[in-house]
Amino acid sequence: MTQDHPRYILHVAVPRPLRTLLSYTCADESAPKPGSRVLIPLGKQHAVGLVIRVETAPPEDADSRFTLKPVEAILDTTPLPDAHLLELLQWGARYYHHPVGEVIFSALPVALRKPKPLSSRLQKLLGRYEAPSLAPVERNHLQLTDEQQFCLHSIEQWNLQAPLRPILLHGITGSGKTEIYLRLIAPLFAAGKQVLVIVPEIGLTPQLLLRFAHFFGDTPMACLHSALSDGERMKAWLQARSGEARIIIGTRSAIFTPAPNLALIVIDEEHDASLKQQEGFRYHARDLAIKRAQMLNIPIVMGTATPSLESLYNADTARFHYVRLNQRPGTTRKPDLQIQDTRPFELQAGLTPHSLQAIRTTLARGEQVMVFLNRRGFAPALYCPSCGWQASCQHCSVKMTWHARRNKLVCHHCGADQATPLRCPQCQNPQLTTQGQGTERLELALQTHFPAAVVVRIDRDSTSRKGELEAKFATVRSNDPLILVGTQMLAKGHDFPNLTLVIILDIDQSLLSTDYRALERLGQLLIQVAGRAGRADKAGKVILQTSQPDHPMLHQLVGHGYTPFARQLLEDRKRWHFPPFGYQALIRASSTASMEKALQFLEQISQLLIVTDGADIQRLGPIPALLEKRANRYRAQLLLGSQHRAALHAALLQLLNPSVKLPGRSGIRWSVDVDPIDFS
Ligand code: ADP
Ligand code: ZN
Ligand code: ZN
Repeated sequence: MTQDHPRYILHVAVPRPLRTLLSYTCADESAPKPGSRVLIPLGKQHAVGLVIRVETAPPEDADSRFTLKPVEAILDTTPLPDAHLLELLQWGARYYHHPVGEVIFSALPVALRKPKPLSSRLQKLLGRYEAPSLAPVERNHLQLTDEQQFCLHSIEQWNLQAPLRPILLHGITGSGKTEIYLRLIAPLFAAGKQVLVIVPEIGLTPQLLLRFAHFFGDTPMACLHSALSDGERMKAWLQARSGEARIIIGTRSAIFTPAPNLALIVIDEEHDASLKQQEGFRYHARDLAIKRAQMLNIPIVMGTATPSLESLYNADTARFHYVRLNQRPGTTRKPDLQIQDTRPFELQAGLTPHSLQAIRTTLARGEQVMVFLNRRGFAPALYCPSCGWQASCQHCSVKMTWHARRNKLVCHHCGADQATPLRCPQCQNPQLTTQGQGTERLELALQTHFPAAVVVRIDRDSTSRKGELEAKFATVRSNDPLILVGTQMLAKGHDFPNLTLVIILDIDQSLLSTDYRALERLGQLLIQVAGRAGRADKAGKVILQTSQPDHPMLHQLVGHGYTPFARQLLEDRKRWHFPPFGYQALIRASSTASMEKALQFLEQISQLLIVTDGADIQRLGPIPALLEKRANRYRAQLLLGSQHRAALHAALLQLLNPSVKLPGRSGIRWSVDVDPIDFS
């Protein structure tokens, strides 16, 4: 078969774990644009690829040099990711040391990962949409407080400066940060621009959508999160890509949504750990958003009541502009925070007599109470009091949690479940006992203690059926007196106007954790949960129950507030050259065979790093991970640290270079996590 002389060489990203692009020739008259898909031969298969770069082929007489295969077909005439998004994706692949094709294809809706051209209907939607210039919507908006006015004004002023710097909006819970976002968006909206809003949880998107709809009227908005069907995602993606959707709201992966008229990025709850992807391509949506804003030279606003230490440090060193909101509109009262020592008391329902009394008086006033416990199930342990046997997971190095409603033992790490044994498998004792309490037991105990009260439990188990969560929220919003029992799910965003007492249980484990980020997370969680108490004219009260009442950091947080607490933690980080004063990457390895194998592999990686890098890299480990075995894999980790980001990246690049001979790795899975935040 003769072939036309190739006119172009295409450098193509493929959805395979490859760290390089593959090159193909193309004999068509006009080359496909970067960002469009092509059908390519790959080994013995056909695959889809995305064109990253196009070069003109050398002239005819150099023909013999062509060992490249031709592309089989060009699938798109319009690029899918626009040019700047394509650049962001490549930057992300380099920064997080992840195969570029996997990064790019995981950012596309499923339908676009298939080696097929788009239907003509979808093709049409991809075409550029011309936004009508809108008369601005005149509505009866809230009157901003003086503090909000001032804050809005300073953000607008800073947005005129060059170069633009990211803005950290540090406002206590309920201080009206969302109102600020709306006012920043309004003029851009009127000018036909697009805005991207990233929130940490799907649960928060419906509320936010309602507020946006209320403010902007009947606006085309696109909502992107993991619970969408493939079709819904495709539609939202195309609406954003064409420019039709003016406001794009979504969880972390929405940072990869194309938006040709993007003019502002908002990150709500910038400190939230769920903005970081914990598997595969381990990116941080906030950090990619900062990069994206910088590439486009558009403003980015990051709002939070509890800034991450990284962002606070960036504000301190003037990399970020810093704005504060210290008041709640309509009230000057902040919640009253108290520490309750649990040690002198025999607890009932896990609560001290003081906490029980506080619940009683709050209910008697006709107000609501929340008891926060971040542990699902009835009891975290089932054991035999006669021989000491404990129910543990066969696949993980953890105890199983007993769930009363399902009457099952469940592993919260791998999801395995089993029937509750009737007698001890070791000594046949029929009297097995539970230890500790989860939300299920807490609900029962509170109901027993306050038989006349309504108790509503909100956690993953009690809201798994369709409509259950909404029904429970509706009960709480009726504002009738009740006791709300809940986990993490209640920590953010939700506004309960009649909730005046919050009791937080069981924080001891975080206080004593060896994870250097545990205290930061605990402080953020406590402030967020405490922020649910008290609204409008009602003062809130927060009780923290602990057996470590003298913990200095707890005193710092309760006595002086989040910012001094965070600054104190920053001092410790500085002493240890931990982030943000140094840079880290975590290499994880797991083996089905043994812990020894996983550790050995990492030891060899560690040796390789000595050979390849200079003295700039510190190595901690290898050590077994906190959760030593999970889903039948033994887990170990090696933490790399450096005061020079470039040195760390150079070392990783060396390690991942295909020419480096890695140690034998049968049965080993390993991964690199740049800027890790989870050390479990
Ligand atoms: P945040 O995002 O900081 O938690 P929100 O923007 O959700 O705060 O505001 C908290 C509550 O205060 C909301 O019910 C909101 O409607 C109300 N609110 C915000 N700004 C004002 C204002 N200027 N006047 C009256 N109420 C306000
Ligand atoms: Zn026994
Ligand atoms: Zn398990």
